[in-house]
Amino acid sequence: MSFTIGEGETLGLVGESGCGKSTVGKTVLRLIEPTAGKIILQGRDITKLGKRAMRPIRRQIQMVFQDPYSSLNPRVQAGDIVGEPLRVHGLGDAAERKERVAALFKRVGLRADQMKNFPHEFSGGQRQRVGIARALALNPKLIICDEPVSALDVSIQAQVINLMMDLQEEFGLSYLFISHDLAVVEHISHRVAVMYLGKIVELAERETLFRAPQHPYTEALLSAVPVPDPKADRGHRQRLAGEVPSPIDPPSGCRFHPRCPYAEARCKIEEPVLRATDDGTLVACHLRG
Ligand code: SF4
Repeated sequence: MSFTIGEGETLGLVGESGCGKSTVGKTVLRLIEPTAGKIILQGRDITKLGKRAMRPIRRQIQMVFQDPYSSLNPRVQAGDIVGEPLRVHGLGDAAERKERVAALFKRVGLRADQMKNFPHEFSGGQRQRVGIARALALNPKLIICDEPVSALDVSIQAQVINLMMDLQEEFGLSYLFISHDLAVVEHISHRVAVMYLGKIVELAERETLFRAPQHPYTEALLSAVPVPDPKADRGHRQRLAGEVPSPIDPPSGCRFHPRCPYAEARCKIEEPVLRATDDGTLVACHLRG
């Protein structure tokens, strides 16, 4: 798969569980080493950099995880969690680090006196704010957000998403926003990539993708999103039949063919490549594009 993320841009990455979304995020960070291909950050190929050369790069790419409770050490005070990246990278003395952490707490909507609290003393939304403050500590350029609001109540999700959008504008952050929740992705993304069994099947501007999805898989995903008035939607809803096949042993030809309502004989044999359509959408389907 191949994609770019511009400065200050959010690329949403959607797909069902197990399609490889999180693996993509971890590979960009090189928490998982890529077996092939290149990762280019601001024009520099970082794919083969050794540990030492990667150190300054690590400051530029950070991650916000799905479950803020398990990603924060329960025995460490929140202020130390947020200040840890500064300490590890040897930035500032203790007083300067404390000042920076207090400023970060304030910026994400927490009080400075909460720096002494342990993770269990925060609500779910507050814990994710601690996770975001930690990700911001080193002034990164790119944040990989792996299902960052999926574990939160819907009302809290909106607050955290709005905070992330404000921070993006303020600091010019780029986000790779990984989620299975299309409503959240529609709200935050500039462009959206749809993934199926380890491949991008459609990549488009947010408005285009949600208004006129082109790939049959995107169509099915969007039609499965609940609507406020189910009667108004009856008849248009498509059900994704069958199980998600194993990405280790994917189907021949188009990987989506066993579940695709439009599949033809060639779909079982020939793998479609991503092609640009007239409106600039990239789509991998023999019948579209
Ligand atoms: Fe469906 Fe064929 Fe298109 Fe694949 S290539 S999405 S099987 S129509």
